[in-house]
Amino acid sequence: MSKVCLVTGGSRGIGAACIKEFAKNGYNVVINYVNDDLSANLLKTEIENNYKVKALIIKADVANEIEVKNMVEKVINTFGSIDILVNNAGIAIDTTLEDKTKENFRKILDTNLIGTFLVSREVAKYMLNKKSGSIINVSSTNGIDTNYPESLDYDASKAGVISLTKNLAKAYHPYIRVNSVAPGWVMTDMNKELDKDFIKNEESKILLGRFADPSEIAKVIYFVGVEASYINGSIIRVDGGENV
Ligand code: NAD
Repeated sequence: MSKVCLVTGGSRGIGAACIKEFAKNGYNVVINYVNDDLSANLLKTEIENNYKVKALIIKADVANEIEVKNMVEKVINTFGSIDILVNNAGIAIDTTLEDKTKENFRKILDTNLIGTFLVSREVAKYMLNKKSGSIINVSSTNGIDTNYPESLDYDASKAGVISLTKNLAKAYHPYIRVNSVAPGWVMTDMNKELDKDFIKNEESKILLGRFADPSEIAKVIYFVGVEASYINGSIIRVDGGENV
């Protein structure tokens, strides 16, 4: 029976690259997303046409406890198990420091940090029951470094994901490995509004001189999640050589 990988925020960007990487390696995949039904449906078709695996799409807000429970139940009812969880869903809300609101700060924490916890908690019940599983939380170098105070809300959420990762690794050992991949700049829709000069300046600080392609992050997530059987409770930077 094929193994199963659930990727939150799997309809585009890094999440979609993960879906392709796991499907390429024979996994049945679950594409979770919260908006843009078309992208999710197109990706499902692409996966099922190109790889001999099944793709299930589930629209659910990771910050909503009931939707998360229903999503995990649906995966178990459809595939019978979850072997790999990639907590990738995440948002940033660009504002100046002065314009930040409590509501937006909360929304970022709810999605990036609490959402990661809620999905992990529900999926871990099944993984602990069969005494195996692997969880990869997508954090960010923003959760480690302090570059722009304007993103302090996003940075705090990602620092939280890093702490959560280590705590969950302790909580679920030795059956579930829990790790975090911390990307630097990645060329996705999340960064499509960035000014060209800003991008140039950021690229000049990276030893490889460019932003990552989402597939380069997905390959590391696959390695950490599946192949790296002795990596646990770790945070793996994938940033092309930033702040070296
Ligand atoms: P993206 O905006 O292209 O995609 C985000 C995905 O998350 C979408 O599929 C969206 O539907 C989903 N999503 C958003 N809120 C959700 C919710 N509440 N419930 C379920 N799904 C939700 O983003 P991306 O650039 O591919 O980023 C993916 C992850 O990588 C995020 O956690 C982000 O913080 C992190 N990251 C991105 C970069 C970067 O430079 N792009 C760098 C470091 C870390």
